[in-house]
Amino acid sequence: MQRRGDFRVSVSKDYLVFASAHFITFAGHRCEGLHGHNYRARVTLEGALNEDAWFVFDFVELKKIMRRLCDEIDHLVLLPLQSERVKVAEEGEIVKVSVDGKPRYVFPRRDCALLPIPNTTVAMLAQLLTDRLRAELDTLGASRVTAIEMEVEENFGQSAVYRLGPG
Ligand SMILES: [Zn+2]
Repeated sequence: MQRRGDFRVSVSKDYLVFASAHFITFAGHRCEGLHGHNYRARVTLEGALNEDAWFVFDFVELKKIMRRLCDEIDHLVLLPLQSERVKVAEEGEIVKVSVDGKPRYVFPRRDCALLPIPNTTVAMLAQLLTDRLRAELDTLGASRVTAIEMEVEENFGQSAVYRLGPG
């Protein structure tokens, strides 16, 4: 049965969550205080069918990867490494954080996730998770997956969606 057209598969599970602390900076000199969210991730893959298996990508595998990516940042303080204003310095077992040149926080290193993003907004978290998922898919040789759409929600009805791929 040869038919043209692509498929979409989505995963959003109760365990695709991460409870993390963060603060974001805004244009100008505004900066939030430290607080937390129960983030939730939702992912959609698009692509052609694997004609041996009749799926785009194995759900079991996708859930496993997504759970690992969420676990990596769960129960941690999320800190941006590419911010102009937030500077993160590792000193042995601790991490010192300054904002606009002023010391702000000191955290145990093991309680922090140092992320290669400029600000810990949901948009940047969605992009980061997408890039990490794409790398995992590439390692598995999942070239049939042509697009990834990642939604990260930080509060009910407050989320960002990032799309990587054509369309
Ligand atoms: Zn927040």
